[in-house]
Amino acid sequence: MTLRKKLIAGNWKMNKTPSDGVALVTELVAAIGKQTEVDVVVCPPLTALESVGRALEGSILKLGAQNMHFEASGAFTGEVSAPMLRALFATHVILGHSERRALFGENDAFINQKVIAALKNQLRPILCVGETLAEREAGSTLKVVQTQLEAGLDGVGKEQAPGVIIAYEPVWAIGTGKVATSDQAQEVHAFIRGLLTKLFGEAVAQKVRILYGGSMKPANAPELLGQKDIDGGLIGGASLEARSFVDLVKAAAEAK
Ligand code: PEP
Repeated sequence: MTLRKKLIAGNWKMNKTPSDGVALVTELVAAIGKQTEVDVVVCPPLTALESVGRALEGSILKLGAQNMHFEASGAFTGEVSAPMLRALFATHVILGHSERRALFGENDAFINQKVIAALKNQLRPILCVGETLAEREAGSTLKVVQTQLEAGLDGVGKEQAPGVIIAYEPVWAIGTGKVATSDQAQEVHAFIRGLLTKLFGEAVAQKVRILYGGSMKPANAPELLGQKDIDGGLIGGASLEARSFVDLVKAAAEAK
């Protein structure tokens, strides 16, 4: 019996205006807003956070941001802080997404400061880790994941750790249509669970949810979500359309 409730999180990336976002979330609320088997988070772009947050009020859907700065306020043009996200009733924040790492130069130390700031502000970080294709082909997948995970969680206390969500996202599978096989994904998820055990002890590691991300779709979700250490999905492309996202939530509800 797992202690972990499945979680499906939608990363909308730089897509959808506030009105597009409200239209999508209105459909989601109607279809899955009352079910309680799966936790569901939607992460719209910042401009849609407030209106989407209002549209999901009263439902089980939770609101997440896609990034934030670690400082609470100050001269950081273009950035937003954890207290600002909390003021819009966000409960989750994606941190260290591979696009932030590759396109915006975010490194592990910077991401770690954000993880610490998120926890301090009662935001649940969804910390993304994962290897590139070159790293997988060089046989360094586990080493890369270990470095990102340990550095990202540096300074996180045992009592805070259950509030953290990890997303294993092989970079070569994001937005490419190339999904990791369930064996490939489970191998890394089990490895992450082992690292969490070393860091925080068995009881805590068993509570931390580890999501898979990378071209997860309704067709491949049942097999991935059926793996012992895969506790849900971080969904990009398939979160932009109500039908596919709803089907992913249903697949998570049915996964054993
Ligand atoms: C993501 O960007 O987190 C992601 C998993 O994207 P996609 O589902 O489109 O591969």
